[in-house]
Amino acid sequence: MKPYKVVWVKNSSGAWRHKYEHVLIAEKILGKPLPKGAVVHHVNGDGRDNRPENLVICQNQAYHLLLHMRAEAYDACGRADWRRCGYCEKYEPQENMYNDRGTVFYHASCKSAWVRNKRWQKRGPPQTGPYAKLFRETRSTLTASARKQPLP
Ligand SMILES: [Zn+2]
Ligand SMILES: [Zn+2]
Repeated sequence: MKPYKVVWVKNSSGAWRHKYEHVLIAEKILGKPLPKGAVVHHVNGDGRDNRPENLVICQNQAYHLLLHMRAEAYDACGRADWRRCGYCEKYEPQENMYNDRGTVFYHASCKSAWVRNKRWQKRGPPQTGPYAKLFRETRSTLTASARKQPLP
């Protein structure tokens, strides 16, 4: 990640201080200082591209993260309103997923696969029979990182 552009500005008491260029430009657009907690988002993902058309002022970090989530979804599957499952990393309409921890979405079937996998990791995987097959299928639906650890 390239660092943001920094500029030096004089504050009201005449002292010099440094400031992010994108904040300065956003404040010029707004005509006043950014409200407390506001965050400036770069639409094209380039933190050094401070053209006004590349900046979006978000009222808080939660809204800013939502913008990032939507941009990521759009890049991955062409639908900004779809969500990525934290277990299998596939995208789907939000209404097909569960979300009980804020921004983490998941399929019910993926979560139960993850629970099964965790149990089998403790006890050792089933070697034969229908459960061995289920174990292999379960492993293949989960991503490598989901197999190892719980969701954040
Ligand atoms: Zn951003
Ligand atoms: Zn899933």
